[in-house]
Amino acid sequence: MNNDIKCRFCGGPLAAFVDLGMSPLCESYLAQDQLNSMEPFYPLAAYVCSDCLLVQLQEYVAPEHIFSEYAYFSAYSDAWLAHARQYVEMITERLRLGPASHVIELGSNDGYLLQFFVERGIPVLGIDPAANVVKAAEQRGVPTLVRFFSIETARELAEAGTMADLVIGINVLAQAANLNSFVEGIRVILKPRGVCTIEFPRLLKTMTENQFDQIYHEHFCYFSGLTAEKIFSAHGMRIFDVEELWTHGGSLRIYACHAGDTTHPSLPAVSSLMLREREAGLDRLETYADFAERVRATKRKLLSFLIAAKSCGKSLVGYGAPGKGNTLLNYCGIRADFLDYTVDRNPYKQGKYLPGTHIPIFPPEKIAETRPDYVLVLPWNLKDEIMAQLSYIRGWGGRFVVPIPEVSVV
Ligand SMILES: [Zn+2]
Repeated sequence: MNNDIKCRFCGGPLAAFVDLGMSPLCESYLAQDQLNSMEPFYPLAAYVCSDCLLVQLQEYVAPEHIFSEYAYFSAYSDAWLAHARQYVEMITERLRLGPASHVIELGSNDGYLLQFFVERGIPVLGIDPAANVVKAAEQRGVPTLVRFFSIETARELAEAGTMADLVIGINVLAQAANLNSFVEGIRVILKPRGVCTIEFPRLLKTMTENQFDQIYHEHFCYFSGLTAEKIFSAHGMRIFDVEELWTHGGSLRIYACHAGDTTHPSLPAVSSLMLREREAGLDRLETYADFAERVRATKRKLLSFLIAAKSCGKSLVGYGAPGKGNTLLNYCGIRADFLDYTVDRNPYKQGKYLPGTHIPIFPPEKIAETRPDYVLVLPWNLKDEIMAQLSYIRGWGGRFVVPIPEVSVV
């Protein structure tokens, strides 16, 4: 127990959860002329609050440093875009949104989601601190405020009359350095009958499926349904529905409204999820204690496979350059000695090098040119899409290696 550090939500004392050693910021891709320079590495250790059980990092890096230029352009995955489109269709109908409604997305990135509301004539506002991705959003016709979302931003918007029928946050709650200010801000901009939907990777899946590569400096907190309920309730909101999604290896989408809003009765999915999480022990500190050893075992198994493959003279390359891949490669110490290169569809990353491991990133066509024996799928959460796109590797006997939850060759 480290008594010097306190929980971001409740101020309680923190206990160790998992220590992934020293790692660079996982979205800090390097240009060739940066390869000979010093590269900052920060501790990547996660803790669990002994009082409220929120899993979290300490503040190792100032958020301004992480998010002012962000390489993650959402619009480069087909499965992800389809997910966004389906969400917009579903929520527009469920909340009967129209030209008189207002939708605000926190962490709106390059506008890939809000563009589908714009197509339907529904007014939107995106909020995102990364100036480079916001430029792409504005080209899509998505008005975007270049700001961190906080209680101050929320009050300014509300005072100017900008409030939302729908507030959306997809994989952004984890990035709020000041969690309480962020969630209170949602309450402030939510109209009296408004709804917010928040998606986040689900801690239960992270733990049961060894998804330790979901942990990186950009994600300050890791939520279960139980902790999300405590946090929203502390800020005057009530979770009235929840859906389980396939995204990011298993996510939750929670629906919340003002605590006193009776137009949204609590649905059985909420109590059912909370019950299952309690049955899995997520309400007890002991449950969090054995994750670290399972993570170390996953590392040993992946390295054993890679060493055996290399020893028989096989060639290995990576597919993808996602943030999670960088956590995995840095924690396991996998560099160009194991992976000749990786590829990515995102032109922003091509020609650059992975942070820490300095593995070069090429366009996907490189795989057909070099015909490797194995392709390690780093965004394993998109493995079906990727294996379908790359099915041609089977033509020369190539196979896919999926590292999580257990190393498997397919
Ligand atoms: Zn706490």
